[in-house]
Amino acid sequence: MQEHVDISIHCKNKAKDGLTLTPWNLIKLSVPFVKYWLTRKGQLAHSIAEVGAFYRSSSAVNEPDIQIHLLPVMFNDSGYDWRPTLKHGFTCHVCLLRPESRGEVSLNPDKPLSKPRITYGFLSNPKDQEALLNGVKKAIQILNQPALSSHNGGFICPTIDTSDAQLLEQIKSRSGLIYHPVGTCKMGPDNDSEAVVSPDLKVRGVEKLRVVDASIMPKVISGNTNGATIVIAEKGADLIKADA
Ligand SMILES: Cc1cc2nc3c(=O)[nH]c(=O)nc-3n(C[C@H](O)[C@H](O)[C@H](O)COP(=O)(O)OP(=O)(O)OC[C@H]3O[C@@H](n4cnc5c(N)ncnc54)[C@H](O)[C@@H]3O)c2cc1C
Repeated sequence: MQEHVDISIHCKNKAKDGLTLTPWNLIKLSVPFVKYWLTRKGQLAHSIAEVGAFYRSSSAVNEPDIQIHLLPVMFNDSGYDWRPTLKHGFTCHVCLLRPESRGEVSLNPDKPLSKPRITYGFLSNPKDQEALLNGVKKAIQILNQPALSSHNGGFICPTIDTSDAQLLEQIKSRSGLIYHPVGTCKMGPDNDSEAVVSPDLKVRGVEKLRVVDASIMPKVISGNTNGATIVIAEKGADLIKADA
């Protein structure tokens, strides 16, 4: 299994014009809410992750291996930890697009009928550690540019005045996922012993069974997975129709 490992950089927003979810700010949002309702315009007509970029973690890399998104709100742990949303701040997500690390989905040997075990193996490959560290350092450079000085009131996390080793430890302890798990039913040619499905998406060794979803991607793609999954589905539908 592969997934895009991701780290959130949180900054104070000294302009206090983001989506802070305190009771007072929720009341203030009623104005843009009515504006959006009547005109489909204003603050709430914008996507929550409107600004993004792809860049290379270092000049040694040929193609972008880092994706960032800026959000006018702070939260942790995919929103399960909502406490940071009560403070004025913004988030820069830094995501590693071409990870080498792999995790796995396996049966629980003690209780095979219960939920499977899912491990991501994030940053288990040292190349991933170096790439994400460099990616975070570049994101910090971007956030420190004069164009953002009216908003950036200082870094909440990670702590930036620190050594590379300490920054990496912070990245490891705060890294999360970005909802792009793939690869547990890898597609591959006959001579690939790890391939679960053939190039026409048939499960090897089982009659009349295909897998048609994101799990057949041999490696995670270097971007968000929904579009590529729809392409797999269209191709799978054509293969099934052709066989019928
Ligand atoms: C919160 C979130 C945000 C995302 N944002 C983006 C984004 O902005 N851009 C992007 O490109 N990608 C995004 N993704 C990723 C994208 O949604 C997935 O890559 C894509 O949906 C994978 O498609 P899939 O068909 O493999 O799996 P799924 O879309 O998960 O489909 C699996 C289906 O199987 C069904 N199912 C499960 N178990 C059973 C069962 N036992 N019997 C019958 N049916 C079952 C489920 O109900 C579901 O409908 C996001 C994912 C999440 C979770």
